[in-house]
Amino acid sequence: MDRLMNKHVPKVGLVSLGCPKALVDSERIITQLRAEGYVMSPGYEDADVVLVNTCGFLDSAKAESLAAIGEAMAENGRVIVTGCMGVEADTIMKAHPGVLAVTGPHQYEAVVGAVHKALPPVHDPKMDLVPPQGLHLTPKHYAYLKISEGCNNRCSFCIIPSIRGDLVSRPVASVLYEAERLVKAGVKELLVISQDTSAYGVDIKYATSKFHGREVRAKFYDMAKELGELGAWVRMHYVYPYPHVDEVIPLMAEGKILPYLDIPFQHAAPNVLKAMKRPANQEKVLDRLAAWRAICPDIAIRSTFIVGFPGETDADFEYLLQWMKEARIERAGCFKYEPVSGAKANELGLPQVPDEVKQERWERCMEAQQQISAEIFQSKVGREIDVLVDEIDEENEEAIARSPWDAPEIDGNVFLPGETDLKPGDKVRVRIVEAEEYDLVGERI
Ligand code: SF4
Repeated sequence: MDRLMNKHVPKVGLVSLGCPKALVDSERIITQLRAEGYVMSPGYEDADVVLVNTCGFLDSAKAESLAAIGEAMAENGRVIVTGCMGVEADTIMKAHPGVLAVTGPHQYEAVVGAVHKALPPVHDPKMDLVPPQGLHLTPKHYAYLKISEGCNNRCSFCIIPSIRGDLVSRPVASVLYEAERLVKAGVKELLVISQDTSAYGVDIKYATSKFHGREVRAKFYDMAKELGELGAWVRMHYVYPYPHVDEVIPLMAEGKILPYLDIPFQHAAPNVLKAMKRPANQEKVLDRLAAWRAICPDIAIRSTFIVGFPGETDADFEYLLQWMKEARIERAGCFKYEPVSGAKANELGLPQVPDEVKQERWERCMEAQQQISAEIFQSKVGREIDVLVDEIDEENEEAIARSPWDAPEIDGNVFLPGETDLKPGDKVRVRIVEAEEYDLVGERI
């Protein structure tokens, strides 16, 4: 405390935009900065410098990133930019010439170096500012676990590989020790993320590494099995339906990892998938889903779909709708195709789908999925399940929790009326008494 009273403590403000992967980058940066004696400032006024972690995936995200940089410049004036949009340093400097430095995605050292330059650290090694599990921007009871960077796929609508490069997997022991530290620190749910979780370890030839003296392979199944032993909920995001994913389904049936797979299908019509250059583009996906459900009937699949991709015909769209009706996946978001500058899809020479057609398809896609989700979630009424409490809403006198079928931020909730004595991170057994459009209502058993 003496140090905090006697010296000016360098304060860094942070604006974190984009996806969970960007959030993990922000967490790593602040963990490093806190270890070096910086403190994080919640507002612009107090900060000596503001870091803006940007997203550059879609043009709309770039516009949002530029606006956030503009706001930080106007409110504070000393701004460092990092993240996916950092690869477009020229665009940033043209729009905001006063920016102190621009670094790209997962360039932790470069961004920390830029902070040192703008604001030298006041390091006191006697002060242990950082807990061993690092600092997290998510509520304490769940944490994102990033297992790799980059992607070996080349989906034609996506510029992530050109921003983040090819797949680089972390050694499995490093992933598992991080997961273990998080669980010891009170984390109840681990959300496994990457660009392509099912491809984990391909780049390092599934190299083994030692976890508590045991050799573990850097492979999707082996990692999932080990994570399943840690005692927390384990949720898998960004998985593609490759044949080897089948091996993981029994772990879900045994309750080792959550019966949940986030698979961004994006479309179903073969020629659209081909133009999109999607990985695991196989005709047998419906059979695969049926086989998974036979092993683990409780599995929830969450996905995203893009409508209005260049060249998508009425027949392609009808194919998608029919596929959705057959696949009956639990949760899905639907997006209208947006051409990203630099994406290969723009060079395919395929006709653009007019905006009004995109809009109409989007509405039909959303409507079809809403109906499917509503029917599935209606069938959960009467079930007894474990839920994880996220927050207590004192005003409405209820606890807001999630089921194994709901990921934070993107899926629904389980509301528990009257349960204000619970706290975030509590796991309780409930009976589902009602299903709403996206959410469930439960009562404690
Ligand atoms: S899998 Fe496709 S959409 Fe996802 S990051 Fe890789 S290239 Fe982009």
